[in-house]
Amino acid sequence: MKPMRLLPGLLACVAALVAAPPAPAQGELPYARAVAERFSAPAVRYDTPGLQPWRGSYTSNAELRAALRELAARPQGPRLLAAGRSAAGEPIEALQYSRGPGRPAVLLVGQQHGDEPAGSEALLAVAQLLFTPAWAVLLDRIDVIVLPRANPDGATLGQRRGLHGLDINRDHLLLRTPEARAQALLVRAYRPLLVVDAHEHPVIGRTLQKFNAVQRHDLMLQYAMVANLPPELTRASEDWFRQPLLQALAHEGLTAEWYHTLPTTPGDLRLSMGGVQPDTARNVQGLKNAVSMLLESRGAGIGRLHLQRRVHSHVVAVRSLLTSAAEHADALQALQRQVDAQVAGSACQGEIVVLAAQTPTRRDILMLDPATGADKRISVHWNSSLELQPLVTRPRPCGYWLATEADAAVQRLQALGVQVQRLGAATELQVETWRETARIEAAWPNAPGTFEDGQGVRLLRVTTDRVRLPVPAGSWWVPLDQPLAHLVAAALEPDTSFSWFAHRLLPALDSAARVMMVPQQ
Ligand SMILES: [Zn+2]
Repeated sequence: MKPMRLLPGLLACVAALVAAPPAPAQGELPYARAVAERFSAPAVRYDTPGLQPWRGSYTSNAELRAALRELAARPQGPRLLAAGRSAAGEPIEALQYSRGPGRPAVLLVGQQHGDEPAGSEALLAVAQLLFTPAWAVLLDRIDVIVLPRANPDGATLGQRRGLHGLDINRDHLLLRTPEARAQALLVRAYRPLLVVDAHEHPVIGRTLQKFNAVQRHDLMLQYAMVANLPPELTRASEDWFRQPLLQALAHEGLTAEWYHTLPTTPGDLRLSMGGVQPDTARNVQGLKNAVSMLLESRGAGIGRLHLQRRVHSHVVAVRSLLTSAAEHADALQALQRQVDAQVAGSACQGEIVVLAAQTPTRRDILMLDPATGADKRISVHWNSSLELQPLVTRPRPCGYWLATEADAAVQRLQALGVQVQRLGAATELQVETWRETARIEAAWPNAPGTFEDGQGVRLLRVTTDRVRLPVPAGSWWVPLDQPLAHLVAAALEPDTSFSWFAHRLLPALDSAARVMMVPQQ
């Protein structure tokens, strides 16, 4: 059955549920029929509670909970993992498919943004498919952990953010939200070699306003692109994962493009690839030395239109990524060991990039004419994340010192999986301290005030001074000769918008210091 025939009745039901404007009005398509006809239904039909043709709402949290329990209860079924609870107290649950110890793990995450349901419907379908022989064979080589709904509160409310008003996908360095902490827990416990993050991208809205065009591609993709990422991870992401993924999508008649967004400012016609800050799941998992892939199907703003195809795009992509992980299982394990050792081995040497930016370029991109559905080639200013411009660099320290009262920061580092040691005796350290040279107090777009008592983020420019610093027993030593060293630097170098100083998790500039010689203990 073509989804087109289902539309009038379904759209009538869902118009009220779609949070992101512009939702299609009752009984009408959000764009011309000729555009809709570019997106025919897939040959396969997926069968989750929220995908039933008579439904106006997606799989509810209660239905998801029941479905995961039903799968876990089957013979040789997966293990149900309790990763945490949402702000409203909803369980955040995953299924772990494992045929025994020693296999590398893959983590699949859906619906970090509550109003992007295709990811969780698709991952529930994947959880079912992992029982079929064609998929189950992958479990000979890899473990698969499926977390279909990372933001259950946002799903209930039909909103992007969680109940607390924070964007969970921007919270993977700060870990202020219980939802981001639940994902961090899974990553710490299972050290996945591949993490997949399933979202939806807006199809109309800004592209219609700015280019009189509709987004054309079934799936937008991007792997981790962030300063200090080992280049071996980028090569593996491209050669072992993205290239086969593009082929798998093409084989199914699905199209793909790099993930990109448009700014909210009217008249600003630049397109930007996904950001290069170490705060999103995609980039933070990369700095945990995993291959990390963002998938964005069409969806946000078009209600239930083409829902089977949107889910199909995710399922085809996930199958390709799991197949690649299984094919390269041994090489991936070797790669993660190598990258872990390489990062740990570079402490006290060379430079780290504290802040980097995208590279402005130009390129042509294909969209759709909103009236005729024909391809429309548009020449755009394109901020590329494929090549990073370092803006601030510093010598890579041997580690960081944290003051006794920086307990909150120590706990967050540990939640990220970082090793932190308490100094047993007073000592003197060779350090660099930061000195403020300029300050901008700014609102933080990720829900200003919610967690910061109405205070904005503290954006600083700093210079460093090399001093000998007497430090007391009971203060903290965070060595950089560990695999998550670059995540530590992202959190503790103070002069960025994502730093823990900016977000007041570190009370003052002198709550931390760059340690330039390993302390004698
Ligand atoms: Zn999203």
